[in-house]
Amino acid sequence: MPQPSVWYVNVRRQSLRREPVPEGWQRLGGRGLLARILLDEVIPTCDPLGPHNKLIFAPGLLVGLGLSSCDRISIGAKSPLTGGVKESNAGGRTAAHLARLGIKALVIEDQPAEPGWWVLHLSREGARFERADDLAGLGVYETAPRLLERYGPHVAIALIGPGGEQRMAAAGIQNLDKDRRPSRISARGGLGAVMASKGLKAIVVDSRDGEKPPIAHPDRFRQARKAYHDALMAHPQTEVYANYGTAAMTSMSNGFGGLPTRNFSAGQFEGAERISGESLRQMLLRRGGEAETTHACMAGCTIRCSNTFADAQGRAVVSPIEYETIGMLGANLGIDDLDTIARLNWMVNDLGLDSIEIGVALGVAAEAGLMAFGDGEQALALLEEIRQGTPLGRILGNGAVVTGRVFGVARV
Ligand code: SF4
Repeated sequence: MPQPSVWYVNVRRQSLRREPVPEGWQRLGGRGLLARILLDEVIPTCDPLGPHNKLIFAPGLLVGLGLSSCDRISIGAKSPLTGGVKESNAGGRTAAHLARLGIKALVIEDQPAEPGWWVLHLSREGARFERADDLAGLGVYETAPRLLERYGPHVAIALIGPGGEQRMAAAGIQNLDKDRRPSRISARGGLGAVMASKGLKAIVVDSRDGEKPPIAHPDRFRQARKAYHDALMAHPQTEVYANYGTAAMTSMSNGFGGLPTRNFSAGQFEGAERISGESLRQMLLRRGGEAETTHACMAGCTIRCSNTFADAQGRAVVSPIEYETIGMLGANLGIDDLDTIARLNWMVNDLGLDSIEIGVALGVAAEAGLMAFGDGEQALALLEEIRQGTPLGRILGNGAVVTGRVFGVARV
């Protein structure tokens, strides 16, 4: 395997420069490396959506080694939502494929010379740009299959939706999971808007000719891997995650008064039981079909905290449905129906937005009288405003603080 290197992609020149990893970066990975690169290379006062910000992808140090749950990708930049350092972490396939190409970090620089959309394709041969204007405006659920058809089922993909294209501060970057669904989002901080500012609709990683990262002491590594695996399987929380996913947190948060309810005007929700992890599990077991109470977002994960929510006919709606989404698009909007939450979750995902930030923004919007708490159809209509890019949609898509300022709501 070639020495790991830092891949600098300049979107103005559409060029790639491979640099050796500086000594001070060699023992860093994931969010540590990403923060270091931001500190070393990004002007703190730069415009997050301007040419001086950099979009960075950094696989964690243990990516690609077959360790449960470790193939995680850190994506970061100066945040257009907060103006601070942003790192957003996701599972799926992206990290392992970058690591197999020997990419210690992918640093995307500058801005395109002309307007338009591109796919950045990475492989052992290097980087190439292909026009992607035909994908503009499409949600991630339509874009991903088209890209898989174009580039083959073996690739990993990170992509943005209409929210990112509109440079909304609540936009994230979706990563394909192991089943090639765009479902593992680097959601927080507006990184989808940064990717859009680089003119990229998608990054496609073809690591077919890549190699597993080298292991210095294979025997000792195998022992450590076994100890890690045994410890994971023996831990009681692993079983909780496998059975209920992060949705297990719903009852717990409600119990200690921390479940955001109706724009967090209360910390306990009278409908909490109906949207709890326990109810979710029973519903999915009853429905069968494509429903899954447990699912792995990446190859080799033994915890399997993910799930697939299916409708009453057993057809998959969205994967996964998580505590944060149940909290923010459920209790925080006064919605106590898992089917409605799943539809909202699908829509937010398809737009490539952060379900936490959007749930909070909709809660603020409800307090401002733009929808009634508990009305899922009105919430879906507000999401449609975001898709259409109306002035109201752009306000909501720029997050809770902007929504609160515009509509005079102080509780954000
Ligand atoms: S399924 Fe859950 S536990 Fe497994 S890697 Fe993905 S996020 Fe982590």
